[in-house]
Amino acid sequence: MKLPAVLSTIGWQAAYRLAAALLAALILGLITGRMALCFAIVLGMYAFFQNWNLSRLERWLRLRRVQPPPDISGPWGEVVAIVSRIYRRKQYHRSRVTELLREFRRLTSAMPEGAVLLGPEHEILWFNGRAGEWLGLRRKRDFGIRIANLVRHPDFVEYLQTGTPASGVVVHEPAASGGRWFSFHIVRSDTGVRQLLIVRDVSREQQLESMRKDFVANASHELRSPLTVISGYLDALADDEKLDATWSSPVLEMRRQAERMGTIINDLLELSKLESGDTPKDDQPVDIAGLLALLRKEVLQSEHRPEHVNLKLDSDALLLGSESELHSIFSNLVSNAVKYTPENGEIEMRWWTDEDGGHLSVRDTGVGIAREHIPRLTERFYRVDPGRARSMGGSGLGLAIVKHALQRHGGSLRIKSREGVGSTFTCDFPRERILSRDSKATAVS
Ligand code: ADP
Repeated sequence: MKLPAVLSTIGWQAAYRLAAALLAALILGLITGRMALCFAIVLGMYAFFQNWNLSRLERWLRLRRVQPPPDISGPWGEVVAIVSRIYRRKQYHRSRVTELLREFRRLTSAMPEGAVLLGPEHEILWFNGRAGEWLGLRRKRDFGIRIANLVRHPDFVEYLQTGTPASGVVVHEPAASGGRWFSFHIVRSDTGVRQLLIVRDVSREQQLESMRKDFVANASHELRSPLTVISGYLDALADDEKLDATWSSPVLEMRRQAERMGTIINDLLELSKLESGDTPKDDQPVDIAGLLALLRKEVLQSEHRPEHVNLKLDSDALLLGSESELHSIFSNLVSNAVKYTPENGEIEMRWWTDEDGGHLSVRDTGVGIAREHIPRLTERFYRVDPGRARSMGGSGLGLAIVKHALQRHGGSLRIKSREGVGSTFTCDFPRERILSRDSKATAVS
């Protein structure tokens, strides 16, 4: 029933009652001949009755938590019924919200992840037991304190401020019992007022990852010495004129395979080195134009190469980075372009800068790559055509090295390719790493 309709019912009920009282006063007045007195008595009784009901209602409203509704008939009874209904509905919603909150607390305390609710200024509003244990937070004491004052790792603080990377950050917390690795990920709502910080203990994953890296680095390192000895003997055998002719072809093949193994081991070691830190330690302004000119010269000296090897320099800006790592990035891209482009084809290397930063592309008119392979090219040992790649002497690690080295320079790799038409590999570097040649210290705008 709609509220205005109820009100009008109450209004009519009150009007009927008043009319009945007035009628009774009129009849009594006519019978007794004392009209004024009868009206005064009846209206007085009516007013007293209204007042009495009003005070019962008021008393019940104050004590409605503990007292049942009063048994009143007429319009006041309707008012009591409406208030009771509203009160019961409110109580039902309140108990539902309380139960939901209890359930939420039970679930969050059983969660394997830590959860911290942050306010607009990143102040702590609430956290579950796991987050408290891992981050050393205490209820009451730390409520209202900005989380950056308690978790001070620079990577975490930067993530909190910038929200990048979107996938969150992994940081090492030496304070957490025995030193643990935690991943932090912020979940924002549409309104953006409050944020939920999800904390995961990734110490085990980090341990396994570092074991994997150490294993690959150690195994590659251990394999290098015996391989050097084997290659040495194979070289000597290949050069030995007294070697039986039937052996010359197998020895040559063994030499080729030993060379391939050497390439793979060197690439694995390089990849391990790139994975061991986040940023290059030997940052310096690198002359990209000079580096590309040198690479072009090397390509021109190689025996099997495409007919046209062009260099397009649209900028003479320098790039802040590790010269050896940048050389490794570009030489891997250029050697791939040479490997996968026929001799009548063309390669173009281009370096330019714009408001987004610096860009280097290596374009070729070679065999190209089918669309489904492109997202997987930077995986270790991923090859589009394993037979062809192996016969070209590739280790399958070149683009993985490119990706890692680029990441360490804050850059990324874009790949565009069409099968049978050619490919373009573009490296994008952030603005902060671009230096104008005159100043060597001013970012190019
Ligand atoms: P590889 O040492 O085998 O070349 P990479 O990691 O450098 O390993 O490249 C991975 C795969 O990507 C290659 O096996 C090849 O199939 C493909 N690829 C890379 N560059 C090119 C290119 N310029 N044109 C065509 N295919 C390419």
